[in-house]
Amino acid sequence: MISFYNTAEKKKVPFKPLTQGKVLMYTCGPTVYDDIHMGNIRSYLTADTIRRILENKGFEVRHIKNITDVGHLTRDDISQGDTGEDKIEKKARLENVTPESITKMYEEHFHTTEKEMNILPAHFFPKATGHIIQMIELIKHLIEKKHAYVVKGNVFFDVTSFSRYGNLSGNTLEKLKVGARLEEHPDKKNPWDFALWLKAPQEHLMQWESPWGKGYPGWHIECSAMSMEYLGESLDIHTGGEDNIFPHHEAEIAQSECATGKHFCTYWIHTRHLLVDGEKMSKSKKNFYSLKEIQEKGFSPMDLRLTLLSSHYRSQMNFSWKALEQSQKNLQKMTRTLQRIQDFEPIQQRSSKDLTLSTFFETFFTTIEDDINSPGALALLYEMLNTLNTRLDKKIVSQEEKLLFLKEWDRITFVLGLRIEQKGKEKLPKKINEILEKRSQAKKERDYVLSDRLRKEIEALGYIVTDLENEQKIIKNSLFKN
Ligand code: AMP
Ligand code: ZN
Repeated sequence: MISFYNTAEKKKVPFKPLTQGKVLMYTCGPTVYDDIHMGNIRSYLTADTIRRILENKGFEVRHIKNITDVGHLTRDDISQGDTGEDKIEKKARLENVTPESITKMYEEHFHTTEKEMNILPAHFFPKATGHIIQMIELIKHLIEKKHAYVVKGNVFFDVTSFSRYGNLSGNTLEKLKVGARLEEHPDKKNPWDFALWLKAPQEHLMQWESPWGKGYPGWHIECSAMSMEYLGESLDIHTGGEDNIFPHHEAEIAQSECATGKHFCTYWIHTRHLLVDGEKMSKSKKNFYSLKEIQEKGFSPMDLRLTLLSSHYRSQMNFSWKALEQSQKNLQKMTRTLQRIQDFEPIQQRSSKDLTLSTFFETFFTTIEDDINSPGALALLYEMLNTLNTRLDKKIVSQEEKLLFLKEWDRITFVLGLRIEQKGKEKLPKKINEILEKRSQAKKERDYVLSDRLRKEIEALGYIVTDLENEQKIIKNSLFKN
């Protein structure tokens, strides 16, 4: 059973999608004004692991990750996020270039980083500036339904019009009224309302025509507009870092549910922060490390991936070079063990009853499927590798186990997203390749009688074939005698 901790329910709950077998998932992507750092990567890795866990179980996941290229203001730590200057405009002004050249450069950097980190690409990466029309339409709708109001070219969401406001973050209206540091926008009716559209001063570089005059969108509305455009009115999973819970995701729920009258999203999954010296790693604090910086110190993207997976996504994590060193060693161990078992020629067909390899695989998957418990699953994996190495030393690994290991190893590395170097695959005889091809066609045509016959032909030639979802795994039968 797959389960996740749902921020909205404040507990771990079993996963059940809205449509059987299909999952609609949205991830808040980067604000593209600086290099992607390890903190951002940590959040995207959580989303990636969720997707891999689900796909491994056969779910068809549609994943959207947006690119924020307008509307995210510098003081997003102050209450509703309506204070300060647009982050991208600020950078463009400082560097005396256009906002587009800033966003283009950092968007490219983001994609390269994700690729190197082996993060599965989202099915689409919509950009906020490409969806101004959808945002305007959504805002018009919210005004018509009296959830939003216009003052001097600005449009604000009236928080008092949505009774469930605060359910996600706990920042209910009552609490906001007495507690938070609220920005004093002169045009807001109430300081707890948030901006949907902001009037642009003449010198503002990014501005668009709207029914309320020239302006630019608030930060939160983009994700409501883009998730609706590409996933529909209700989705299964929404992810982001813990700083997104409030105000960003709270605002998304309010906007989306007020506009559609439907429940917006079932599972809200948030990654706790990656810290440096006890402080959130962030672009604005400039206390971050990019992937390039760690590569310059001799670590690979997979060393980083394994390091990030070694800590649970719901615990804060302190960045440390020591942890990277340990992961590097662990990865080497994985590579070595894989190589050893590939080279090992078993002398027994079947394992004796007391061997535990098959139960290991089962436990590995149930562990990681339990609220993405990657550290727990990795601990099991290291234990299994130790056992396996001891048994390889004693030459007591059976043919059956070797095959099971190689088959399950592919699933494990898929779910962990680890690219483990494999030595060049053994060249198969031409005859075997021909039969494999025929068998693949037979399986496509669901001709199981033929596929079974071809399996026997392969076995008669001294090889063993086993079926993975989209592939046939083949190894030489070291016990074969002709
Ligand atoms: P940003 O580019 O700042 O909008 O952030 C993009 C994503 O990364 C958001 O989901 C953030 O919540 C997340 N994020 C930013 N900093 C960190 C961090 N230090 N640790 C974990 N996630 C982060
Ligand atoms: Zn967002």
